[in-house]
Amino acid sequence: MTTKPPDSSLVWYLRSLGDHDTHQGRIRVDGTVLACCGLRFTPRPTLRIAGPPPGALVAGPRALRGSPPDLEQVCHECQHGGAR
Ligand SMILES: [Zn+2]
Repeated sequence: MTTKPPDSSLVWYLRSLGDHDTHQGRIRVDGTVLACCGLRFTPRPTLRIAGPPPGALVAGPRALRGSPPDLEQVCHECQHGGAR
């Protein structure tokens, strides 16, 4: 078995701000995400801070950049690559 490189088309999306509810998947033309674990959902925007401190929370892009910062929020199945 060879180790596959990470699939760069897979991106992390927030389904909610709850624990283990950030999923890795692909966004579809209808705006829903099909996650590795099989969930299909409409992603919620990420939040970012804009402006001078203390700044204002504004909606950011729907996809997370890179890896989720908080593993507590990551879906266990998606974290391990989903279905194999
Ligand atoms: Zn998942």
